[in-house]
Amino acid sequence: FAKEFGRNQFRFYTSAFSEISNRRMQLEQRLRIAFEQNQLEIFYQPKLDLYTKQITGMEALARWNDPVLGSVSPAEFIPIAEETGLIVPIGKWVLETACRQNKEWQQKGYSPMQVCVNISGKQFLQNDFVPMIERILEECQLSSEYLNLEITEGIALYNIDEAIDKLKMLKKFWISISLDDFGTGYSSLRYIKSLPIDFLKIDRSFIQGILANHIDAEIIRSIISLSHTLGFKVVAEGVEEENQLKILKEMSCDEIQGYYFAKPMSKHEFEKFLIEHGELLNNH
Ligand code: C2E
Ligand code: MG
Ligand code: MG
Ligand code: MG
Repeated sequence: FAKEFGRNQFRFYTSAFSEISNRRMQLEQRLRIAFEQNQLEIFYQPKLDLYTKQITGMEALARWNDPVLGSVSPAEFIPIAEETGLIVPIGKWVLETACRQNKEWQQKGYSPMQVCVNISGKQFLQNDFVPMIERILEECQLSSEYLNLEITEGIALYNIDEAIDKLKMLKKFWISISLDDFGTGYSSLRYIKSLPIDFLKIDRSFIQGILANHIDAEIIRSIISLSHTLGFKVVAEGVEEENQLKILKEMSCDEIQGYYFAKPMSKHEFEKFLIEHGELLNNH
């Protein structure tokens, strides 16, 4: 009986495994097609300054609604794009599209804001990463202060000297840098002080615990205080409730991003949102 049971279990595992790898293969194939056929889209999620109440920028977030697979989350397809190398052309497309869009909004009379673009490790490590960014800004005629690049601790610490060099080059052109998902990665506080960054984004998983978990709340308070000592602004990610916002404000957090203020939106929805928030200048 034990033998039989064991065999069944083995069969169960292999079929579960092949189901996963089928999905993985299908995603990879469909992603290639979707990218080539220009089916990827970008949504924009605003972030808010807690004190001036102004929208300071928006994060560009890739969206994929596949005709066959339906909507696929970036949490699922970005890692596949990274493994296959597709992230390099996709990431370049996101940068170009987001910068062009930001310039278009400025030309239409919306108050100038930063667009924040997520950069993956493979992309950041490309030799021509910095010149590519320069070229894109020039092509879009977007002033570099309106571009913010979001990198994670993992990218920064993979080769810290190279990362610092690249970040310094970017900062020479006035491009600002955010350290994304802070608290989920290596969290080497020791290295944080040597990174030339402008914003630190506290990961949503900490913000979720801010009300219920006393330790999480104290960690957030210390991160904010340390960031201010080092001269970084702090953005809280994934703020969903007013009570979270209140405690973050009391902790002197600088900016928030999250469903409480707004969800990521298509470019048309985002324009409507900006108008509702009085961000269209020239009294249109
Ligand atoms: P991220 O950079 O940390 O982006 C924030 C994520 O949190 C987004 O998920 C956003 O929709 C979600 N979010 C924002 N506010 C809330 C909230 O209040 N509650 C909850 N539950 N979620 C909230 P999304 O769009 O699914 O993206 C997931 C991740 O995929 C991003 O995390 C980012 O790491 C990656 N990603 C998305 N677009 C790109 C891209 O163009 N390039 C690269 N390299 N990565 C991307
Ligand atoms: Mg991000
Ligand atoms: Mg990110
Ligand atoms: Mg994040």
